[in-house]
Amino acid sequence: MNDTAKVNLLDLDRDGLERFFAEELGEKRFRAHQIMKWIYHRHVCDFAEMSDLGKDLRAKLESRAVVMPPPVILDKPSTDGTHKWLLGMDQANAIEAVFIPDKGRGTLCVSSQVGCGLNCQFCSTATQGFNRNLSTAEIIGQVWVAAKHLGNVPHRQRKLTNVVMMGMGEPLLNFDNVVRAMSIMRDDYGFGLANKRVTLSTAGLVPMIDRLSEVSDVSLAVSLHAPTDELRTELVPLNKKYPIDELLDACVRYALRKPRTSITFEYTMMQGVNDLPEHARALAKLMRRIDAKVQRANTAKVNLIPFNPFAGTRFERSEETRIRDFQKLLLDAGVLTMVRRTRGDDIDAACGQLKGQVMDKTRRQAEFKRKTHIDSITRIN
Ligand code: SAH
Repeated sequence: MNDTAKVNLLDLDRDGLERFFAEELGEKRFRAHQIMKWIYHRHVCDFAEMSDLGKDLRAKLESRAVVMPPPVILDKPSTDGTHKWLLGMDQANAIEAVFIPDKGRGTLCVSSQVGCGLNCQFCSTATQGFNRNLSTAEIIGQVWVAAKHLGNVPHRQRKLTNVVMMGMGEPLLNFDNVVRAMSIMRDDYGFGLANKRVTLSTAGLVPMIDRLSEVSDVSLAVSLHAPTDELRTELVPLNKKYPIDELLDACVRYALRKPRTSITFEYTMMQGVNDLPEHARALAKLMRRIDAKVQRANTAKVNLIPFNPFAGTRFERSEETRIRDFQKLLLDAGVLTMVRRTRGDDIDAACGQLKGQVMDKTRRQAEFKRKTHIDSITRIN
């Protein structure tokens, strides 16, 4: 069997691995736990090094499986401690993952698709179009590469404390692979992260938010960026399909199902576009409405992101004072509001600057449109 015909064990979460050992190899299920520890705690990919597995089992594994993380094409440290990796996904495509260290925590920003088809007007990934979904192995492989580089040991030497699905792509349009990868992130035999330390960020796919609430306990972030449908549709075209009221109702349902979690609303600050006092007041009203419906203060939080420019964009970052004034209006209205510090912009690693290498986009773009509007959405309704 050549390597491409073998199972990449990074594609399987604990359940899948247990089944693989029991059903495919005729072995005990707990072997899955041993192998996960080798892969995710010790960063070992070579079966020959897995010394607590018997010789026969190692030979069986050699013939049927591989542990194949994505190759690192480029490894780019920033002066502020941020680190970006360009990772090869196949012959034509590459994606980016970014590590952001900050007082006592280390956050990895992970991509879920090669490119993105949602066409948010202020996002650099959008300019590249969509190519394809990443596999579970390609998603968890990003965490694996960063963890190995950092010498991260779950439960003992934690360098990587948080993962945010905020890189390239829309994670809810790659639902199964993303959910499986997030399960490995939170598994004690995987990266051992607490549920609330794994965050999925979405542009607002309403039916998928409901589906996520049924299968996962991760934190939810929603890319809002505007308080009115008119403006939001301009910035995030997906809003035409799922307008603000429907989106916020889905957030209320999510919060009601997860009694202790809050929901973060991302709001990219663009000069003269969405950063005026009237926007702040309208936004505060929306946020308070969520808290009232869930009957829990501070369920809705706002994260203001200073716009990160990229070549060819027509937007500009809001001035510092405008961002502060906007924040103050929200805080005064009782809405918990943070300003996200811009990190890694010297290496184009800040929000909305991830580009990778996306090939073949025109053909795939048409395919994506057909799929997202027919498949994934009608499947749910
Ligand atoms: N598709 C998902 C995941 C991307 S997350 C989503 O939309 O949530 C990346 C976050 O950065 C989103 O909130 C996105 O809207 C925001 N963003 C995109 N481009 C940006 C830019 N140029 N500057 C600042 N934030 C940006």
